[in-house]
Amino acid sequence: MRVINFSAGPSSIPIDVLNKAKDELLSYQNLGFSIMEISHRSEIFEKILNSAKKKIKTLYNLGDEFEILFLQGGASLQFAQVPLNLADENVAEYVDSGIWTQKAIKEAQILGINYKVIASSEDKNYSYIPNFKFSDNASYCYICSNNTIYGTQYKNYPSTKAPLVIDASSDLFSKEVDFSNIGLFFGGIQKNGGPSGLCVVIIKKELANRVKNSVPTLLRYKTQIDNNSMSNTPNTFAIYLLDLMLSWIEKNGGLKEINDKNVKKAKILYECIDDLSSFYQGIAQKEFRSLMNVSFKIFNQNLESIFVQEALDNNMIGLKGHRIIGGLRASIYNAISLLDVEKLVDFMYKFYKKYK
Ligand code: PMP
Repeated sequence: MRVINFSAGPSSIPIDVLNKAKDELLSYQNLGFSIMEISHRSEIFEKILNSAKKKIKTLYNLGDEFEILFLQGGASLQFAQVPLNLADENVAEYVDSGIWTQKAIKEAQILGINYKVIASSEDKNYSYIPNFKFSDNASYCYICSNNTIYGTQYKNYPSTKAPLVIDASSDLFSKEVDFSNIGLFFGGIQKNGGPSGLCVVIIKKELANRVKNSVPTLLRYKTQIDNNSMSNTPNTFAIYLLDLMLSWIEKNGGLKEINDKNVKKAKILYECIDDLSSFYQGIAQKEFRSLMNVSFKIFNQNLESIFVQEALDNNMIGLKGHRIIGGLRASIYNAISLLDVEKLVDFMYKFYKKYK
């Protein structure tokens, strides 16, 4: 039996994708081997990698000025790889909207690049997205589009003259994106794109030429651009699963349809929290609420562990909040259906009636 999995990542993968992977696990397309067992240089694997790239290109409507890379080291390695490759004589500007941007800022500091934090929402425990304006001559402008822990999300990306760099780990493939001023867009796939261990990087190719000779070969975007992400052995199985996930997104109508569904799912969950506002309390300020991670508390904190346990008894897992802020969190990524969220809402009303 499958549970409803509200984990923040790694997280739920659609059953159709898992079944397809299961069917092909021992013998990929009846060839007598698993996709895990063949060379990344084989025609069969290269076809899968190129198919995933093509799907991403189509879904995000990307022009040829962009390259799609499949890298290892998680989204976290990008915190260092971005400044290593993109920093130039100008100031790199960062907006601090939570732990994940703090970690990125720390890497800029370690690397000793010229950087500045131009705005932060730390004063109110990252419950909102701060107001700011990037300088036109910044080296690059860095934001995190969805703050997985606090449950805040940019509703629109800032317009910039300098290249915009976006950590989109927790809202990757969840909606349409206008790439016109984006220089680099990255995300670990373990929320909306499959298993952990693979980071998708979409980079405007010309930016990769900024890299200095002192940067190690494998840490240069240029190296992986020149080698179709196969300078070394990539995570072949994760790329295969990503390709299946992208087919699933296509089958479900593409990013517009997916976003429409995500809006509906988030709406009913936030409505429940607001309706029962004497009992539950949303963490993010309303206008910045995430469609992906719904973080909330129960006023009587003693009830939170009981909530998690009773949810488990009702076949729902992953609802404990991040250890840094506590509380509760329902991650409602693409693979979570409207029906799954309805079941959670139903449970939340019953829980309220029992303990209010
Ligand atoms: N950025 C964001 C927004 C995240 O949510 C996470 C992981 N939860 C990361 C970066 C780090 O990802 P990884 O563990 O793949 O390095």
